[in-house]
Amino acid sequence: MHITLPTYQDVVDAATRLEGAANATPVLTSRTIDEEVGAKVFFKCENYQRTGSFKFRGAYNALAKFSEEQRRGGVVAFSSGNHAQGIALAAKLLKIPATIVMPTDAPAAKVAATKGYGAEVVFYDRYTEDREAIGRALAAKHGMTLIPSYDHPDVLSGQGTAAKELFESVGQLDALFVGLGGGGMLSGTTLATRALAPACAVIGVEPEAGNDGQQSFNSGEIVHIDTPDTIADGAQTQHLGNYTFPIILKGVSRVVTVTDEELISAMKFFVQRMKIVVEPTGCLGLAAVRKLKDELQGKRVGVIITGGNIDIDKLGKFLQS
Ligand SMILES: *Cc1c(COP(=O)(O)O)cnc(C)c1O
Repeated sequence: MHITLPTYQDVVDAATRLEGAANATPVLTSRTIDEEVGAKVFFKCENYQRTGSFKFRGAYNALAKFSEEQRRGGVVAFSSGNHAQGIALAAKLLKIPATIVMPTDAPAAKVAATKGYGAEVVFYDRYTEDREAIGRALAAKHGMTLIPSYDHPDVLSGQGTAAKELFESVGQLDALFVGLGGGGMLSGTTLATRALAPACAVIGVEPEAGNDGQQSFNSGEIVHIDTPDTIADGAQTQHLGNYTFPIILKGVSRVVTVTDEELISAMKFFVQRMKIVVEPTGCLGLAAVRKLKDELQGKRVGVIITGGNIDIDKLGKFLQS
């Protein structure tokens, strides 16, 4: 299969499309964490992005590029998580009809949020039905365009705008830590970093239970795994994508893993010391910085906090654990 990979220019174009639609999220620092790890750490807070995660960036960029015919047909996406909300809000803002395919057991709050943005929700049974087949069938039958959560040039270019903003606001960094699921965020970040901060190491961070990205990076081939058992639900992907993997392989320095316990510890730090709510997957970056701190002494380090969507019951349980 021959594909044309996006470049940094696509990230720049995405940033122009996102102007006025996406939040330019804040960059926070913490003296406590700087002292703990011996580095200067800058947190890019996508938990404050519209819909509570960076997914809005890629979704909006992809939908803003739709042709008139695609707009009429509408968009379909399959997701029970942050991509669903990103697509639903972007579609609403751009007046494009949206259908989201969700499992019957998706959390009621997420279904309500998605419907609240005006999307139609179609349910499937996650144990007996194949959501990709359902999404493709809907797309074919109704002339809808399927937008995947990571493996799409416009999606990953949109995600890269967060790192672009980070470098524009804090200048050069020695290392940038990015949570890794299917690699939309990591590949977009890589495009921005290679262009704006060539000396900066880009480090992908996965849950230990789902290290398909690390295996793929180290072997040079996309490795498929079963759905991993981890609290990082935004990184429960089974494999990297045809667009995301080559960019990651070429421009990322390494992929590391952290445990669920390390994620919970980072989540507690965010709430207690920085007063911010971060979902488990959003904690990957800080957990890895703490783990690798011996290598980071005296360095300037970026962390992308990827999202903040978590049920408050679950948050309470993690904080008490
Ligand atoms: C989707 C998501 C990720 C992983 O992003 P990919 O582009 O799939 O690698 C990380 N954190 C959060 C909060 C997410 O929603």
